[in-house]
Amino acid sequence: MNPIPILTYHQIGDAPARGTPMRSLYVSERGFKRQMWILKRLGYTGLSMSELQPYLQGKKSGRVVGITFDDGYLNNLTHAAPILNFFNFSATCYVVSGLIGTTNSWDEELGVPSAPLMNIEHLKEWLNRGHEIGSHCVTHSSLLKITDERARFEIEDSKTQLERMLGVPVHQFCYPYGDYAKGHLEWVRRAGYWAATTTKRGRVVCAIREDYKMRPQTEGNPLHKLERESQTANVQHGESEKDQIRVQINNQTIKDETHKSASWTGNSEASHPELGMPLELSLELASALIYELPRVPVVRSTSWPQFLLKIATSYEDRHP
Ligand SMILES: [Zn+2]
Repeated sequence: MNPIPILTYHQIGDAPARGTPMRSLYVSERGFKRQMWILKRLGYTGLSMSELQPYLQGKKSGRVVGITFDDGYLNNLTHAAPILNFFNFSATCYVVSGLIGTTNSWDEELGVPSAPLMNIEHLKEWLNRGHEIGSHCVTHSSLLKITDERARFEIEDSKTQLERMLGVPVHQFCYPYGDYAKGHLEWVRRAGYWAATTTKRGRVVCAIREDYKMRPQTEGNPLHKLERESQTANVQHGESEKDQIRVQINNQTIKDETHKSASWTGNSEASHPELGMPLELSLELASALIYELPRVPVVRSTSWPQFLLKIATSYEDRHP
């Protein structure tokens, strides 16, 4: 199966004057339409993150591309949604739950022009058009610049509030500024998100696959890294009964998702049938992949030949 590109957009519309900070984050309506047309012509289907999930897990295969928008700008609804719907594509918009209906105030200090964010009615219309809302925290804070307690709140409360306001489950998460520490991956998973995206560049290689095993033993291969760590790792066992159950459930999930015919039981002594590593580490490996997904940025200066290279070749794939 080919690597899967997850496109990152911010604003769709005319860019502000030359020299304006973050001007590159605007893609013109015309440019966006052309990019969607290219995808269609190449036989790709643009999908929201939750619709893309089975492809990321290797349960489904096909020519698919994830389409994501960061921050929740109103122009995503007014300019991008009609184009997406025209091509029968869906997309995920990551919204800042505490700033709904306001502006991108977190960018103010950088001199970025104020731009309206969708309000509740807009978000509902986005959903009605067949698209998805994900969480981009409560205040768009870098998780690395706030206390652990606050970071956990940003991850959990944004989900709860969005679900309450919109009346739909929120399964997708995106780290503001692409900032996170390893510990955040686990919190995101425990909060009940299905996946999380970063600003790391690259296309997604389907979770736990042959080519990970085949890659050379370098820092970059997460499998080898985890195998090395497994020699010293002290995997935390059941801090509480509840946690044990949760791990059990997740072992089951991972088993279902990656090894349909495998017969491991959730016993912590058991080894992963293919990778020969302790179960918790395979869990960790799966988390590392699904909760820190790389993406393919599309910016104002992305020409269409470049766009083609980004999605259909290894142009973006800089293995970590
Ligand atoms: Zn953002």
